[in-house]
Amino acid sequence: MRRFFVEEIDIKNGLCVIPEKEAKHMIKVLRMKQGDTFILMDEKGNRFESVIEDISRYEVSARVIKEIPKLPTSPVAINIYQAVIKPRKMDYLVEKTSELGVTRIIPFYSERTVIKLDEKKASNKTRHWKEIARSASKQSGRLLPAEIVEPVQFSDLLKSLGGTDGLKIVLWEGENVTDLKELLRNEISSSNFTGIIGPEGGFTKREIDQLRDAGIIPVSLGSRILRAETASIVFSTIIQYEWGDLGI
Ligand code: SAH
Repeated sequence: MRRFFVEEIDIKNGLCVIPEKEAKHMIKVLRMKQGDTFILMDEKGNRFESVIEDISRYEVSARVIKEIPKLPTSPVAINIYQAVIKPRKMDYLVEKTSELGVTRIIPFYSERTVIKLDEKKASNKTRHWKEIARSASKQSGRLLPAEIVEPVQFSDLLKSLGGTDGLKIVLWEGENVTDLKELLRNEISSSNFTGIIGPEGGFTKREIDQLRDAGIIPVSLGSRILRAETASIVFSTIIQYEWGDLGI
């Protein structure tokens, strides 16, 4: 059965309204009709078998038939803190890390981020990234799209990371003691991973020191300098391979 996403499933008298964008896709592209059944999903993983009751010009009204139990999510939580990079690269990163099953992407600004978005632009961008995450989720058969957070400042990143659990690392090409392979081999067990990746120009030494002081481990991915988006994708892949569900 086809699956369609809404931000939140709001059922009134057994009916849920599917807004314009998704509705257009259902009617214009897929030519769905009254009486067709489908699975309605929201960002929290709620799922309902539903049937099209009414079609208007911009909306579809669906009758909710029954709730479907939530699927298990990826066995590991992967949080990617990514410094905002150029638009096309950021889009690529959101799509690929979404396919790889990351839980959450938190964009941030650091000293060397070239792209700084004002509030309005940031919220438009976030909406755009959410859309990419949603379609990557659909295409790859994920239960839930990656959560995308509005860009935060580096100082907020430091604060928010203090209290979180799990293994927290910053990918830093200047690190010459710790690499990811060894770190993961020595890690007894963790189901929660956080990776922080810099912008095109990398982190400053001061930022690395601040991250280190906040308990975040600088880690090298070897002597080749990777593009930021490559580093994020590699990090997500390695974690899924070692601890997650990149396998059967
Ligand atoms: N400052 C660098 C490039 C930064 S690459 C320069 O211009 O020389 C962008 C980001 O990717 C970095 O901030 C880091 O988080 C990550 N990265 C790239 N290559 C890496 C490597 N070999 N090891 C660890 N992290 C790496």
